[in-house]
Amino acid sequence: MKARKGPHVNLVIFDVDGTLIDSQNMIVTAMDRAFAAHGLAAPSRAEVLSIVGLSLETAMRALVKEEADALAGPLTEAYKAAFFDLRQSEEHHEPLFPGALAALDRLSGREDVVLGIATGKSRRGVNAIMDLHNLHGRFATIQTADDHPSKPNPGMVSAAIAETGVLPQRATVIGDTTFDMEMARAAGARAIGVGWGYHPNEALAAAGAQIVLSHFDELDRALEAHFLEEAAR
Ligand SMILES: [Mg+2]
Repeated sequence: MKARKGPHVNLVIFDVDGTLIDSQNMIVTAMDRAFAAHGLAAPSRAEVLSIVGLSLETAMRALVKEEADALAGPLTEAYKAAFFDLRQSEEHHEPLFPGALAALDRLSGREDVVLGIATGKSRRGVNAIMDLHNLHGRFATIQTADDHPSKPNPGMVSAAIAETGVLPQRATVIGDTTFDMEMARAAGARAIGVGWGYHPNEALAAAGAQIVLSHFDELDRALEAHFLEEAAR
């Protein structure tokens, strides 16, 4: 990877689930199995999708509510086991969203851009995605749930900014949930929402998205507007 540092470099930080990859079937299936393993009725698909992006145990607590203290830990373990099994099976299906790879290719080629990841997934989960889609080497900084509090805490974005040495206002988070937008704004970064993930467009806008994209093809133009705005300061 070329060294890109200095006050004019832009950091583009991607969320993973619901933004780069469509993991909803895997997540919903693993959640069904985790709840079944503990003799519990599974939450609805809509409930599950509303918490994707949070770190796993935080997500579980939100789903089980009353008995969260007793159940969140065991359900988290059951979910991890179910997800791991699914990854080994023929049901494994976590496709990149249309246009994602081309967008990463275009941005990787730019001298004024470095790429990062901020995800509620574990490091192991991110590595599995990198292996699956051959994405290794594209990201200058990768922040996971293993090392930070759950989104919307700004820790992941602040760490990505520190690791790459960019100015906070030159960092932009691309994500599909309100957690991503709030995390970005709390870290002093910009936020771009994507409309193909798991939270509604209006919620993203209300949480601080400067724009909500309807296709990856629109990303370059949205970023360019940010870059030019910063350059003009
Ligand atoms: Mg997401």
